[in-house]
Amino acid sequence: MSIPAPAIASFQPPRRTLMGPGPSDVPRRILDAMVRPTIGHLDPAFTDMMEQTKTLLRYAFQTENKLTFPVSGPGSVGMETCFVNLVEPGDKVIVCVNGVFGGRMVENVKRCGGVAVLVEDPWGRAVDADKVAAAFAAHPDAKILAFVHAETSTGAQSDAAALAAIAKRHGALVLLDCVTSLGGTPVLLDQWGIDAAYSGSQKCLSCTPGLSPVSFSEAAIRRVRARKTPVQSWFMDLNLVLGYWSGEGKRTYHHTAPINPLYGLHEALVMLAEEGLEAAWARHRAMHEALKAGLEELGLSFVVPEGERLPQLNSVTFPAGIDDAAARGHLLNDFNLEIGAGLGVLAGKIWRIGLMGASARRENVDICLRALRAVLG
Ligand SMILES: *Cc1c(COP(=O)(O)O)cnc(C)c1O
Repeated sequence: MSIPAPAIASFQPPRRTLMGPGPSDVPRRILDAMVRPTIGHLDPAFTDMMEQTKTLLRYAFQTENKLTFPVSGPGSVGMETCFVNLVEPGDKVIVCVNGVFGGRMVENVKRCGGVAVLVEDPWGRAVDADKVAAAFAAHPDAKILAFVHAETSTGAQSDAAALAAIAKRHGALVLLDCVTSLGGTPVLLDQWGIDAAYSGSQKCLSCTPGLSPVSFSEAAIRRVRARKTPVQSWFMDLNLVLGYWSGEGKRTYHHTAPINPLYGLHEALVMLAEEGLEAAWARHRAMHEALKAGLEELGLSFVVPEGERLPQLNSVTFPAGIDDAAARGHLLNDFNLEIGAGLGVLAGKIWRIGLMGASARRENVDICLRALRAVLG
């Protein structure tokens, strides 16, 4: 075929302010890192950078886990990596569902041939620890507890320490989605006793999408090694990926690592280490307080009760009579501002305003409030 006229030329994206559920604003410094020369993925210079990335990720996750590395793929691939390796056919998994991403965990368990035991809570609320304890009492043979720390579809944060402690009392592994929490609110894998965790590059780490940091405890690795059935995914089989990422002895080819995106993640993690985790958490909290004051002044109310709210994802109901799509279109076209729409049962009912990573700054809060003031009249 021939290229249709007018000829397709280089793509020039518009400049936006990203305040949705991810991706967040990517700092210039990270984009600059990504345009550095591409080298081979088995080049010693590249493997040295990978070792640094693993060290930086251990800091971000607050873990000593040796098996901590970025999966080549978005957060969803990190999620599947955790489930396909840890769930064998017939395994019972207690899954907490209080929004879209908990629902995806259920889907993963089923596709692995596992039996999902659901612990359901209303959208917009944290996971209820009493219900999790009751589920373990009813299903003492459950092998894994899986839950979402920061439910991006609603803006609710669950008490990961309390939920993990229940699972530990029953000898179950804990599988955590911390895609939206990593870098924005405390994620303390070792202190909480998390066995498998996955995150994403484009939320509070403020990198471009496409990489998923994961971490596995020794107990999780033992579970993978003791499987009776092979992991059904060749690409995500940790036994194979380990040959490339383990850093023990010679690295063997598994798949071609996404070289330049990994430069970006390395830079994002260097920036996080320079700022310090505590300072990053405090910044997200402070920007949330500033945004919250302005949103309430505009008459918008929060979906999630105080105390269960994520600072980096602010869900608010908008006034009756406002056309959801038109209002968000107005924000995008006239203010170059992206905010998120509601998902699932909250579609058409709420807006989700992200303050993730580099987007959690005063300038963005001001841009957002000014734009909303104009749109809401
Ligand atoms: C964004 C997100 C995911 C999926 O990440 P992708 O990079 O979009 O695949 C999973 N879980 C949560 C809680 C998320 O916010």
